[in-house]
Amino acid sequence: MGGAAGRLSRMAGRGDGSVIGGKIGLWLEPGLLSKLAAGRQVVLVTGTNGKTTTTRLITAGLAVTGQDVASNSYGANMEEGLAAALGQALDAPYAVLEVDEKYLPRVIQATAPRVVVLLNLSRDQMDRAAEIWLVARRWRDSFATASRTHVVANADDPLIAWAASSANRVTWVSAGQRWREDSWCCPQCGSHLRREGDDWRCRECGCSRPRVSWVLDGGKVIDSAGRAHDLDLTLPGRANRANAVIALAVAEVFGVEVARALSALRRVTSVAGRYTQVERRGRSVRLLLAKNPAGWLEAFDVLDPPPAPVVLSVNAQEPDGRDTSWLWDVDYRVLRGRRIFVTGERRLDLAVRLEADQVPFELVDSVDQAVDRIHGRLDVLANYTAFQQIRAALGRVS
Ligand SMILES: [Zn+2]
Repeated sequence: MGGAAGRLSRMAGRGDGSVIGGKIGLWLEPGLLSKLAAGRQVVLVTGTNGKTTTTRLITAGLAVTGQDVASNSYGANMEEGLAAALGQALDAPYAVLEVDEKYLPRVIQATAPRVVVLLNLSRDQMDRAAEIWLVARRWRDSFATASRTHVVANADDPLIAWAASSANRVTWVSAGQRWREDSWCCPQCGSHLRREGDDWRCRECGCSRPRVSWVLDGGKVIDSAGRAHDLDLTLPGRANRANAVIALAVAEVFGVEVARALSALRRVTSVAGRYTQVERRGRSVRLLLAKNPAGWLEAFDVLDPPPAPVVLSVNAQEPDGRDTSWLWDVDYRVLRGRRIFVTGERRLDLAVRLEADQVPFELVDSVDQAVDRIHGRLDVLANYTAFQQIRAALGRVS
């Protein structure tokens, strides 16, 4: 019935049907998720940023084994989305599932995962997110009871390291941390953390960065045996290199050799419409998604170098968070020296913010208006529903 509902939803043009089918399935059978997960090797991926991309990269890495991999590749990351993804690939022995941060403990209980991946934790849409420390503490509690689960975690994010350290087995990865505004305090005792480079330590309680076995070093990855490999990804930016190193560490848990996994990762060119290049009225447009301050900071790194133009688009619908005050947490001065177009339902909020940072901009009603005013390439950076609207306007690029 879930599958039929999903197909109906697609036929009616309501969406990709990845949520409604799961919703109906769970309504009929509340234990559906654990039934669908039984007998499979499950990987759960969570964190504030990078979930969808990392899920895609791990899926690519595991696919080299020749086995089928179930995955919620379009980011429907609550229970109904997970049930739908598993229901659509009943025979797949592997499942790689992106999970919303708040649902992780519940999903761990339902799916008994072989691996849980923890990427990073930072403030998200302010009117929606519970305090991130509470999220980390719930993770920590659930690892203490999931004794067979292997955690792969970013040691450079103190909150992540603290959450993961209650697990029996952890592969620590140095994936870096660009956004540090949410991690100046010790997650264990609240004292001020000493930070030098990627290293961090609390002088009060001794909580410190664990020893890492995988390292992102510029454009290279150093694997657990100490060998360096060039990453050479097609996906752009530091954040995606970090996601790739994590994906390689997960592939190792499944016995996939680094070189083989890496060549599969290099073939990933876009993820759920992100990073896609589309031609629009003779110009090349590239779509980037960023949903919160940490995400915007990472996205700025990916932009074509100045003076390349960029469109910034912000909405404040329910999935984005109604409150746009997070815009004030981002430093926009790095955008000076390029032509900036501002659009989206909350373009005036963004305009005020840019004005305060003395960054010149032009207001436009749509991406097409910006396209008409430039030559060559255009990067478009948008938050969640703004991204979906632009993607639909440009022809549902995938
Ligand atoms: Zn401490």
